[in-house]
Amino acid sequence: MTRQSELRIEGLEASAGGSPILRGVNLVIRSGEVHAVMGPNGSGKSTLSHVLAGRPGYEVTGGSVTLDGVDLLAMEPWERAQAGLFLALQYPIEVPGVQLNDVLEASFAAGGHDPSTVPTVVGAEAERIGLDQRLLHRALNVDLSGGEKKRSETLQLAVLRPRIAVLDELDSGLDIDALRDCAQRVEALSDEGLGVLAITHYSRLLDELRPDVVHIMVKGEIRESGGPELAARLDVEGYAAWQLPNEDIPADPVDDPFADPFADPLA
Ligand code: ADP
Ligand code: MG
Repeated sequence: MTRQSELRIEGLEASAGGSPILRGVNLVIRSGEVHAVMGPNGSGKSTLSHVLAGRPGYEVTGGSVTLDGVDLLAMEPWERAQAGLFLALQYPIEVPGVQLNDVLEASFAAGGHDPSTVPTVVGAEAERIGLDQRLLHRALNVDLSGGEKKRSETLQLAVLRPRIAVLDELDSGLDIDALRDCAQRVEALSDEGLGVLAITHYSRLLDELRPDVVHIMVKGEIRESGGPELAARLDVEGYAAWQLPNEDIPADPVDDPFADPFADPLA
């Protein structure tokens, strides 16, 4: 990759359903860098990813976001994707009737690449990421396990080769093997120049995907940025270390063996 890219988020404020969620977020992610944004449940991590991708339902009330100097927030979601931004959703969406290859061929064609190369590239990536080739001919994400969905998201990332990838809890719903395979694939892409914003609640993802910078996000703002040692400190002290006096941080939800890890909490 020759061109250096930069995603620049300055003073970003956004609200959802009339409530302020993001309260002035500053982040700069460049080609080849891995940034981790860690925070407790409800701190606004997914909101940040949705606002960057242009999901409807959020109001940007302040600040700016540029990709290579161009105003990202003024673009339609598909224009953001064409400009080189990729979002792996925390809860990948099932799309009945549409195969993975269809999506990737349409993306290639829209980006001016030869779509006839997609099946070969996808086959090679499926092999590399450990995604069963038979799943490539199922409807997108339909009846895939949590781990298969995240392998599929990672495959799409590797095939589409964006400039900057936002990964929202790539580790949620993953067993340890899938976590390692996905994290190592992303790490290799970052070595080739991909800029990564990895959103995660737990530090286990970062054992495999080594971040250059770790940001702790609480209540819609980044409270501290530092090296990987911040994630290590988080493991010992929990998010309470970044809590303000009189602020309550939601406890981790009790693991519910019957809960659907991919249910949309906002649905
Ligand atoms: P995280 O990903 O860090 O767990 P989210 O960004 O999903 O946090 O949510 C942050 C807060 O914003 C939560 O309190 C959530 O309920 C609220 N929120 C997110 N999206 C919406 C929405 N569309 N409407 C109303 N509230 C929302
Ligand atoms: Mg989230």
